[in-house]
Amino acid sequence: MEPVTHNVIRFKVEKPSGYRFVPGQATELSINQRGWEEEKRPFTFTSLNAWPNLEFTIKIYRDHPGVTNKLGTLKPGDGLVLRDVWGAIQYRGEGVFIAGGAGVTPFIAIFRQLREEGKIGGNQLLFANKTSGDIILKEEFSRMLGDHFINILSDRAEPGFEHGRIDSEWIRSKIPDLNRKFYICGPDPMVKDMQEALRELGIAGEAVTVEL
Ligand SMILES: Cc1cc2nc3c(=O)[nH]c(=O)nc-3n(C[C@H](O)[C@H](O)[C@H](O)COP(=O)(O)OP(=O)(O)OC[C@H]3O[C@@H](n4cnc5c(N)ncnc54)[C@H](O)[C@@H]3O)c2cc1C
Repeated sequence: MEPVTHNVIRFKVEKPSGYRFVPGQATELSINQRGWEEEKRPFTFTSLNAWPNLEFTIKIYRDHPGVTNKLGTLKPGDGLVLRDVWGAIQYRGEGVFIAGGAGVTPFIAIFRQLREEGKIGGNQLLFANKTSGDIILKEEFSRMLGDHFINILSDRAEPGFEHGRIDSEWIRSKIPDLNRKFYICGPDPMVKDMQEALRELGIAGEAVTVEL
């Protein structure tokens, strides 16, 4: 376990033999301790199949006694229960990735895989957070994407960052060529707002991939 931000932890987990997934997919996890085994929550793999271990990047909600709060108290060697892999977000070609907070996790795996294959190309990541301290893997995304990594902060203006919320006008200002594929992942209200913003720009249907 290693901190990624003030409330996000990276978990390294032993990989069952033969366990494979497509970058962007998730599994339902529970904690292998009495009373927690059936408390299943979905989390996305942020490792690649070629890595010896599985990795999860998990936002810990310390404000109530749920699964993530409990995950934040685990010690090295404590057990997790893994299940089947699933998930709608998979790479379908170059495009614009829009993420809010911990919703970026499927895009971590996708971009890491593209980097491995030398195929980052013209992909772009628009990443919305409350403050710069909430940005997950800021340095790694900057290295991978350069100018194609654009952050927007909702809570306050900070030097070097865009301030506000993502809407159709903002998308248009950042993405001059809208004839692209779009990928959205974040909290439900944000996903709905982004789908609406893209609809206003005439982008819908197969051009948009969303976690269902
Ligand atoms: C396909 C998929 C993949 C995901 N992958 C990831 C990932 O890789 N990393 C990641 O961090 N998250 C991921 N999530 C989100 C993750 O599943 C949730 O954050 C997790 O289930 C929360 O579990 P919990 O038991 O801690 O909170 P829950 O009790 O399930 O609560 C969930 C939400 O309700 C709020 N809430 C509920 N009760 C209270 C309360 N009493 N007080 C305050 N707030 C409350 C919490 O703030 C939280 O937003 C994914 C979700 C999906 C659907």
